[in-house]
Amino acid sequence: MAIQKASAIVLKTQPFRSSSLIVTFFTKEFGKLRGLAKGVKQEREIRGADFELFNGLEIVFYEKMRSDLHLVSETAITATYEALRSRLEALTYASYFSELTDQLTEVHDPHPKIFGLLDFCFRYLASLPGPRLARLFEIKLLSEIGWLPYLDRCLNCEKTGLEKGYFSSRQGALFCEACRAVYPDAQFLAAEPLAVMRYYIKHDLEPSIKLGMAKATETALEAFMTRFFNERLIHPLKTRRFLAQVSSAF
Ligand SMILES: [Zn+2]
Repeated sequence: MAIQKASAIVLKTQPFRSSSLIVTFFTKEFGKLRGLAKGVKQEREIRGADFELFNGLEIVFYEKMRSDLHLVSETAITATYEALRSRLEALTYASYFSELTDQLTEVHDPHPKIFGLLDFCFRYLASLPGPRLARLFEIKLLSEIGWLPYLDRCLNCEKTGLEKGYFSSRQGALFCEACRAVYPDAQFLAAEPLAVMRYYIKHDLEPSIKLGMAKATETALEAFMTRFFNERLIHPLKTRRFLAQVSSAF
């Protein structure tokens, strides 16, 4: 067993036996990791609080070679993202970002950019609307794992310069007016939401978050992403369903 160190964010915890926790982390160095934290519930005041959802931690763990469940031996809190915990909307979106990351990533597949994305979005959730951050989060996560919708040109005839078009969630790609008939599920994609997604794909997080957009564009992007994920995820995300139910209350 090798001893390893990592910067981690807590995505998920589940009780294990009477006093331990199985923790799913997203780490900067190793990507997603699962760790066993022994005896933490008996010493809740001391170590249990480290494993609060969304906490940023430095962890030391014994890497098991024959299992993907490692033994977490030491932790130190580096970020608590305190401000996001005071608003239900922010908490709900943080849960959504965690669940989506957990579903779309594999263990031991390093993606430091996803670690940075979680940290960035958890920090900004305190002050920015959840839906706005969610669309940026989704595009950047899809980009990192290679699932990005194809928006460059018409996938069929390769026509470029499309300012709007028809998007097939099944194909994950954009088509022009002439080619749309070949893909009956293709739906109209207006110029504004298309421009916003292209901007997010091309630019870093900081400039992207400053990009303004009309309410109608936000709504169109949300519907776009719902269709896109429904086509790709075998199990619908619990947090997405919850968000759809409660978002009118935020
Ligand atoms: Zn075409």
